[in-house]
Amino acid sequence: MTSENTASLDAEAAPAPQITFDDLGLSAETLRAVKEGGYNTPTPIQAAAIPEVLKGRDVLGIAQTGTGKTASFTLPMIDILASGRSRARMPRTLILEPTRELAAQVAESFDKYGKYQKLTKALLIGGVSFGDQDALLARGVDVLIATPGRLLDHFERGKLLLTGVQVMVVDEADRMLDMGFIPDIERIFKLTPFTRQTLFFSATMPPEITRITEAFLSNPKRIEASRPATTANTITQRVVMLPGNDPRTRRAALRAVINSVEVKNGIIFCNRKTDVDVVALSLKRHGYDAAPIHGDLDQSLRTKTLDRFRSGDLKILVASDVAARGLDVPDVSHVFNYEPPRSPDDYVHRIGRTGRAGRQGASFTLVGPGDKKSLDLIEKLTGKEIEKAQIEGVPEAAIGDPNDRGGRGRRAEELKKEHSKRLSEKKQRFVKRDAERPTASMEPIEQPEAPQPPSERKPRNEPRREKHAEAPRREQERRPPREERGERSGDQTPGFGDNMPAFLRKK
Ligand code: AMP
Repeated sequence: MTSENTASLDAEAAPAPQITFDDLGLSAETLRAVKEGGYNTPTPIQAAAIPEVLKGRDVLGIAQTGTGKTASFTLPMIDILASGRSRARMPRTLILEPTRELAAQVAESFDKYGKYQKLTKALLIGGVSFGDQDALLARGVDVLIATPGRLLDHFERGKLLLTGVQVMVVDEADRMLDMGFIPDIERIFKLTPFTRQTLFFSATMPPEITRITEAFLSNPKRIEASRPATTANTITQRVVMLPGNDPRTRRAALRAVINSVEVKNGIIFCNRKTDVDVVALSLKRHGYDAAPIHGDLDQSLRTKTLDRFRSGDLKILVASDVAARGLDVPDVSHVFNYEPPRSPDDYVHRIGRTGRAGRQGASFTLVGPGDKKSLDLIEKLTGKEIEKAQIEGVPEAAIGDPNDRGGRGRRAEELKKEHSKRLSEKKQRFVKRDAERPTASMEPIEQPEAPQPPSERKPRNEPRREKHAEAPRREQERRPPREERGERSGDQTPGFGDNMPAFLRKK
């Protein structure tokens, strides 16, 4: 049942070319829509999952995006839903997606392949008015596609009942985990009937995800569309080593890399939303056709940008991981990582945007001296060393010098060193003064201090705190010696020398 294939959708590369869509048990209406949609051969996950879903069995699909997993659940669900009717506020099936874009994509899939069946659906995602969504729910829907937070909002407002859910799909579960949705997912599971059929998809299986599947899936059919964390062999991967971590250099290097290849359309991934904005703006200023997409941008703008990119009107999309996760943009020629992602799983997802459906793709990852650990993790996970590319216009990195932190990193390192040197000097002075201080004194202020040798005198520009510490000492230096103050020198108690505490002195 397990396919050892990579995520390629190349029909030629499928392990069982004899299997056709006609063999999977789908209805004539669905098959017609599939053929019109341009699919000829089922992908490995479709071939393995569709018959199981139609039988009513739970499925655990370990599959990345790009494997055709969406149709592996939408096609059989369309047929399951063909019989029966929806009731007000009680959806018959529920699909949970981590992002609005993915939810919208799944909705499109239902429209495309369910066009010969009369299905009603609702999309519950943020950024869309509650009123419209409430009206749809009230009429009753066959398919409810939702992000977990929005779904629970509707539930709490009493607009929704999940007790009629016959099939529940959790898609991109590992991304849900990254986004902190797992408690919501558990809650939603508990709101649905335990007799439901569950289809659960995740690209990777970290322990938290395994725990959920053990708790909520019943004897699932486990299907792996690709070995976890492998990258499609249709993608040529390269890293570009940078001499420093300075953002300006990095942006210049990015431009040099883009210029070095024939980019039909590409996605640039950044780890931070702020970088997404900065990189997109900088590229635009340099004359590139680029636009940003990340979670903080207005939903309508995100949709518009994505539509422009899909239609070929926009050439370069600069994206954050969350916004771009699972985006169905079938023909991306290049993926650029402005920096390696912090999690190696994200690397697999990012470069999975290219080399899809058997096409050739290429990825470039910019790696500064501070990113080497992330690169190591990626190479460990994918099990191969990524080839280093030397790009014209990108200064050669001092590879092999682990201490060279370059650019901003070097400055930070220098400042750190200066700071710790100053700190240790200060500490030494205090240690010295402490050593000179009487240990048993109750009146330390009254103890005269030996004058400092010139070398140990504090420089003029010593920090303020030092000056404060010094103030009482100066006062004390003006005090006359003990004898002049009329104190007897013969009143010393053995063991204390000159440092005898005041309370022990004979009156
Ligand atoms: P997914 O993994 O579901 O995001 O699908 C990735 C891409 O593959 C989408 O563009 C689908 O339209 C496409 N696709 C899905 N199934 C097939 C198939 N059987 N043949 C060709 N392309 C497909």
